[in-house]
Amino acid sequence: MLKVLLTGGIGSGKSTVAQILRVLNVPVFEADRAGREILSSPEVQRSIIDRFGERMLKDGSIDRKELAQVVFHDKGALTDLNAIVHPMVQREFQRWVERQRAPYVVMEAAILTDRARFDHVVVVNAPEELRIERVHRRDGVEEAAVRARMANQISEEALLALADHVIRNDDTELVIPQVLALHEVLSA
Ligand code: ATP
Repeated sequence: MLKVLLTGGIGSGKSTVAQILRVLNVPVFEADRAGREILSSPEVQRSIIDRFGERMLKDGSIDRKELAQVVFHDKGALTDLNAIVHPMVQREFQRWVERQRAPYVVMEAAILTDRARFDHVVVVNAPEELRIERVHRRDGVEEAAVRARMANQISEEALLALADHVIRNDDTELVIPQVLALHEVLSA
């Protein structure tokens, strides 16, 4: 069973592509959701408190807003948080993969980690202006805030250089036919 990583910058359309794949009965694992769930594990809570302090705890759980504030302004802190959360997400993914029966499975993730664990990397690509507009429309987030998040992500060029397949979601090509063509290749 092939393991496929589906990634792309903020607002590129990862979740949209993932949703089309689900309709095609492809098992999709959401790394962001798994990462959020993992924050409630006592082991991870302990590591976060050890690294970032007791103030990360609010009413017995990790205060995600507080944590986001810290890692947003500090790349070292982000690296440390990723080092705590990612191995657990990968472990969860492995366990999940073992339960699936399909020609291929997909991990949808905002970041490209553990490239070597995947057989294919699919990048969803859209121009920056369009991504900003879509995120603004979706979440009401202002342009500056979207740009700040983009600045924290791997550059579009670097991402494309790592891609085995690119889905263009830029309003010049329809997305569904591209996903269907990819699905055919990956199911073969
Ligand atoms: P994030 O990294 O923020 O989670 P994402 O890469 O998962 O974003 P989506 O949530 O799929 O991106 O898309 C961003 C927004 O743009 C959504 O509201 C989605 O409905 C919309 N969108 C995505 N693709 C298209 C499209 N081809 N045409 C119109 N709207 C689109």
